[in-house]
Amino acid sequence: MSTKDFIEKDYYKVLGVPKDATEAEIKKAYRKLARENHPDANKGNTKAEERFKEISEANDVLGDPKKRKEYDEARALFGNGGFRAGPGGAGGGGSFNFDLGDLFGGGAPGGGAGGAGGGFGGGLGDVFGGLFNRGGTGGGAGTRTQPRRGQDIESEVTLSFTEAVDGATVPLRMSSQAPCKACSGTGDKNGTPRVCPTCVGTGQVSRGGGGGFSLTDPCVDCKGRGLIAQDPCEVCKGSGRAKSSRTMQVRIPAGVSDGQRIRLRGKGGPGERGGPAGDLYVVVHVDTHPVFGRKGDNLTVTVPVTFAEAALGGEVKVPTLGGPAVTLKVPAGTPNGRTMRARGKGAVRKDGSRGDLLVTVEVSVPTSLSDSAKEALESYREATADDDPRAELFQAAKGA
Ligand SMILES: [Zn+2]
Ligand SMILES: [Zn+2]
Repeated sequence: MSTKDFIEKDYYKVLGVPKDATEAEIKKAYRKLARENHPDANKGNTKAEERFKEISEANDVLGDPKKRKEYDEARALFGNGGFRAGPGGAGGGGSFNFDLGDLFGGGAPGGGAGGAGGGFGGGLGDVFGGLFNRGGTGGGAGTRTQPRRGQDIESEVTLSFTEAVDGATVPLRMSSQAPCKACSGTGDKNGTPRVCPTCVGTGQVSRGGGGGFSLTDPCVDCKGRGLIAQDPCEVCKGSGRAKSSRTMQVRIPAGVSDGQRIRLRGKGGPGERGGPAGDLYVVVHVDTHPVFGRKGDNLTVTVPVTFAEAALGGEVKVPTLGGPAVTLKVPAGTPNGRTMRARGKGAVRKDGSRGDLLVTVEVSVPTSLSDSAKEALESYREATADDDPRAELFQAAKGA
């Protein structure tokens, strides 16, 4: 199969199935047609033989969900039967994400598509890298020069509570597969690998499965690379790939929460043969804070108040995260556990505004009292002797 095949051949038509056919429908259509046109049943019939080949080819692609997706994408990009890739055409037609914009340092993530719109840089290498490095008949060594996108990398970072609220730039150490520096990724000491004779550079070998079927495996001799080192590089043992670790400064936006996964485009493993880099996914862990909690954009805090403050009302100082304390008015008769709101003292939102600080009052009961305090409370008890706080409770209990 070649680029041309993918663009020109309508495999759906060959199998007589609609474009949105299910895997089962494709399988069924293929089996029926294969039976009808099988060479064993049509001896000497060259037309049936041709047709059988077509059917097998179509099933090779449509029967494999990954290949089918690539095929659909290639056809969506280039149209059915004709190249439409004028300037910027590829950018507009595809479902590819060209956004390689630098997300670091809080830069605007937009605009990436514009940059890539002019050509086939980036995203397409991914598609064609996958498409044509495999199973090509006669593509030869040339197909190996297709760029390939770098791998996606997953990493983790633990932030303090405050860092998560405010955002932070943290060093992240990552290791990934990268082209070996010593041999520029060729695997050959002198940078002059030769084409693998076993697979003639395709990186794939076919093995007959009988009945016109053929299966492809990665070539064992070149490990699917299509190239063999004449004089293997000592650093990477001829593989052309090496583990590279690097430390990057990663900007974690303000307001992340524990367990959140952040995607940093283009910050994953480096691409091969000029392909774009993969993405970096960072799973964020957030430490708890001894005083503050978090509810979305809001921060929470529990503030002890005296019984007198709750009953008579008063002004209470409340700590904020990383800022000066605020004074909160506690109205007279505030019940234990009531939550009040200090506006704008919460976590930073995406748009730069802030959530609120939710302040829950907790009436604290003194464990030791001075003589005069005791005296005052005794007289308070006398003054309120007629108030029964449990009267309603018993009334309700009886009523039900
Ligand atoms: Zn090979
Ligand atoms: Zn090397």
